[in-house]
Amino acid sequence: MTVDQSHDELHAQAKRREVTLVPGALVNLLEYDLESLTAFCQLLGEKRFRAVQLFRWMHQRGCANFDDMSDLAKSLRQKLKGVAKVVSMEVVSQHMSSDGTIKWLFDVGGGNVIESVFIPEDDRSTLCISTQAGCAMGCRFCSTGHQGFSRNLTTAEIIGQLWFAEHFLRKHLQRDDRVISNAVMMGMGEPLQNYAALIPALRMMLDDHAYGLSRRRVTVSTSGLIKKIDALGLDCPVALAVSLHAPNNALRDNLVPLNMKHPLEELMPACVNYLAHAPRDFITFEYCMLDAVNDSDEQARELVQLVKHHGHSVTWCKFNLIPFNPFPASGLHRSKPERIQAFAKILSDAGLTTTVRKTRGDDIDAACGQLAGDVVDRTRVAIRIARQRSVGIHSSPTAASTNAKI
Ligand code: SF4
Repeated sequence: MTVDQSHDELHAQAKRREVTLVPGALVNLLEYDLESLTAFCQLLGEKRFRAVQLFRWMHQRGCANFDDMSDLAKSLRQKLKGVAKVVSMEVVSQHMSSDGTIKWLFDVGGGNVIESVFIPEDDRSTLCISTQAGCAMGCRFCSTGHQGFSRNLTTAEIIGQLWFAEHFLRKHLQRDDRVISNAVMMGMGEPLQNYAALIPALRMMLDDHAYGLSRRRVTVSTSGLIKKIDALGLDCPVALAVSLHAPNNALRDNLVPLNMKHPLEELMPACVNYLAHAPRDFITFEYCMLDAVNDSDEQARELVQLVKHHGHSVTWCKFNLIPFNPFPASGLHRSKPERIQAFAKILSDAGLTTTVRKTRGDDIDAACGQLAGDVVDRTRVAIRIARQRSVGIHSSPTAASTNAKI
């Protein structure tokens, strides 16, 4: 896994994956987008429309049992049972918040767990999806970042979270129609660091034969992997959120270590360029509000200047201010509500659309930055971050939240 793969390498990863039949092994069909599933069916001597039927059974109806796929020929069902399976991850726990938020903990083997969070609102229902077990990026304000990196999730594990949640909720709420309207890759992990597995999962989210979500309602959040932002725009342009968290390089180096490799003078143009492909005419910047670290009036004004410097107007981006959810190892504190309001007002007065995220699922530890709090630290990342913390800073996901517009 490298930060700097070339465009060609990334596009090659985004193309249809190799589909093979391995004697004696059952292929998990949740791994395949429709194009790959078509290739798989062709290996079995079946036409594309059979792949479409199979795809719809799995994703639209949540069916994992080939015998129940009644409009597939019996002979095909028999064949499938010998070479394939449809399996999601085991649910370790499920917690339901008093505000309707639901958090699931999934076992992905090897002692690793990941989390997904369902956030119902009046006008939409969002699933926050994990893309890695742990995360290597080490952002200071993020509890996942403090746990270190275990491994990338497979496509089946990424889409499996939506597959499980959508069909669980339909049963639970006794609904036949779609429950989840929005998907955000803001759970554990840096989604673009797991590019090869992410792209097919995104395609399944968008596919009308599967979940049929609008591009505008599928969001990838990144800490700022420049080349992969470019590649995403070409391979599967969905809404983009960028974890900014600081108005200058000195502070961002400390909060988001990736900034030392890709500083703001590279990140901001990459964001502006993404607009040529984005399904919305703006990028969202996530900004975690940290008491006496990044929340002063002066820093708000610096942020306005940063935006103005890189765009023709201030309408090319929106700001989402996230009240920090403290956790002991961080050594950081949440900005006071009145400070957040004052900061937001400076951005708003300058013409920037600004929202303050309302924390959801606090009572079940599903709020932003609190995911998988029980996962053990598998690397020495906590020590590294603690060292970082000892360097003074004076000058964001996991989202279980809704936004309140200023
Ligand atoms: S904020 Fe995102 S990229 Fe940064 S450590 Fe947390 S999960 Fe990783």
